[in-house]
Amino acid sequence: MNEKRRAGGWLVKPTLLLHKARAVNNIETMQRKAERSGVHLRPHFKTHQSAEVGEWFRQAGVSAITVSSVDMAHYFAEAGWQDITVAFPVNLRQLAELDSLASRVRLNLLVESSESAARLDQGLKHKVAVWLKIDAGYQRTGLPWQAQDRINQVARIIESSPRLAFKGLLTHAGHTYNSRSPEAVTSIYQEVLVRLQTVQKGLGVQGIPATISIGDTPGCSLVDSFAGVDEIRPGNYVFYDMTQLQIGSCSETDIAVAVACPVVAKHASRGQLILYGGAVHLAKESIQLADGRTIFGGIAHLTDSGWSRLIDDCYLVSMSQEHGIVQATPELFEETEVGDLLLIIPIHSCLTVNLYSQYRLLDGQAVPIARML
Ligand code: PLP
Repeated sequence: MNEKRRAGGWLVKPTLLLHKARAVNNIETMQRKAERSGVHLRPHFKTHQSAEVGEWFRQAGVSAITVSSVDMAHYFAEAGWQDITVAFPVNLRQLAELDSLASRVRLNLLVESSESAARLDQGLKHKVAVWLKIDAGYQRTGLPWQAQDRINQVARIIESSPRLAFKGLLTHAGHTYNSRSPEAVTSIYQEVLVRLQTVQKGLGVQGIPATISIGDTPGCSLVDSFAGVDEIRPGNYVFYDMTQLQIGSCSETDIAVAVACPVVAKHASRGQLILYGGAVHLAKESIQLADGRTIFGGIAHLTDSGWSRLIDDCYLVSMSQEHGIVQATPELFEETEVGDLLLIIPIHSCLTVNLYSQYRLLDGQAVPIARML
């Protein structure tokens, strides 16, 4: 039996593997970079959703976090995190829960309208800090960066409230994900920063000081210095994935999660290997290769120390709910037997992780995932 077949005897069904050494290295690299730039790192914990993985960040010096829901804020507050930003436009139907959270932790919320600011002011008993969500080009949420008058108006409502402390301008430049080169990412980063600084100056003229918070893994991984920024909130960088690899924001050996999938059939006429591992195990995210092919994951072999480099020209090319179809080179097809394992490197690690209730480290140890929406 060769090494590939011997390794991982305990892996019997689709299993989310976590390469701890790589994740810790990613955590420490971003932390050092933030320290060098004198910027506050508030990582987004929606990527890993695990109190135990959160401790690896704490050991690296992280003391404040970002989450995407009130449930996630509760979970990490229980795990001892005292300074939490819910980086999603405030949901006014959860005011009571937010108020209870605000009684226990330093809570930071996002608003993008006068209505939300006024309702927060009226509905909360405890103090919260408030960021204005700004749309600096992504066009998802936020006050458009050009709408200075509206921005000033909402900022004034926050400033005048005894319960709300105005923090500044927060944006997520998610459009960096459409880039396919480091240069394209850094140029979006610069454009976003100039736009936020324009708004910051406009508020300054009104006598309203504002700090700046940005956060997307491509930008934060590829920019060398965060001059002009006060806080960064990347999340995906803890694991990275095929998307980040294609953008150029990580290297192959930075990717820290993979899904081990048993091979259940071989189809010689199509040169395809069929895996027990489909959309419910990986999420149905795809990227397009330079040659136009759409792929749903990269392929690697399990090794004694983790996993191999990506196997050249072999990809997960299709999937249904629980089947995955690998287009194999003749070499991979030949050497693979039914019952072997192949590892799928996910397209978007945040969405893949969200499907599991535990990671397994390379030695088999389980690390719980809270799985919150
Ligand atoms: N901040 C906000 C508001 C986000 O929506 C996200 C991700 O969607 C992040 C930060 C983290 O960005 P990334 O997933 O690129 O690490």
